[in-house]
Amino acid sequence: MPSFEEIATGVCQLARGCHSHGWVPATSGNFSAVVSREPRRLAITPSGADKGALEPKQILEIDGDGRVVRGTDRPSAETAIHLAIVRARAAGAVAHTHSLNAVLLSDAFAAEGAVTLEGFEMLKALDGVTSHEHTERVPILENTQDWEKAAPDVERMLRANPKAHAFLIRGHGMYTWGRDAREALRHVEALEYLLEAVGRS
Ligand SMILES: [Zn+2]
Repeated sequence: MPSFEEIATGVCQLARGCHSHGWVPATSGNFSAVVSREPRRLAITPSGADKGALEPKQILEIDGDGRVVRGTDRPSAETAIHLAIVRARAAGAVAHTHSLNAVLLSDAFAAEGAVTLEGFEMLKALDGVTSHEHTERVPILENTQDWEKAAPDVERMLRANPKAHAFLIRGHGMYTWGRDAREALRHVEALEYLLEAVGRS
């Protein structure tokens, strides 16, 4: 198993990668990676951190209930979503961005309940997708300021959409995940490209 420092470094690389594209401006977004599954421990970005200047020593460790077990800062208000994704998807890393593509499309397609991505070669960057002839349905959830309360809804939605690689929160941003921080970054890059393709067309 990699050390906490190695996992924290991976979380920082994921966060900086997203920041370099402008997908997590103004301290928005949050990122995590699994440290251990039994007991459940996550390395996660602290609330309010500049993702472009993030360092491994700032990364917090939390338990399966979202309590901080390493570090002194506060974890993100959206920690409960990270834990729901790890439980429902056995993900090794979770990425959350506030990109304009995600925000605008989540509003434009809210009535449909999802953004549909299909026909693009870039779909093959998503885990398990082997052809452009793939339909990726990205569900859209309504925004809230109480994710502790809404986390069971997130988990239910994930279990009801077992093939989804991501979801959007209306007017807010995108969540995606991967087996590790590198795969989570690949998924963010692919999904941002696909959302932009849909948005521009
Ligand atoms: Zn957010």
